[in-house]
Amino acid sequence: MRRTFSRQCPHCTRQVTWPDTPTYPFCSERCRLIDLGAWASGAYRIPCEPLDEEEPRLATDDPEGEGETEY
Ligand SMILES: [Zn+2]
Repeated sequence: MRRTFSRQCPHCTRQVTWPDTPTYPFCSERCRLIDLGAWASGAYRIPCEPLDEEEPRLATDDPEGEGETEY
């Protein structure tokens, strides 16, 4: 059984249908690349970035830490 999907393009909010649109959920290759470009430039948070080698080390015993209170 074939199903079709329909949703808005995340970039320009045009209605996109699948499988009619191979670039689903984007309306076009252009919107897809623009959105990927946004990812690459850090507009979105990537949960598992492979670039954690240069991550600055934070002090672990900062008294004004992350709001954790010790009783
Ligand atoms: Zn679009």
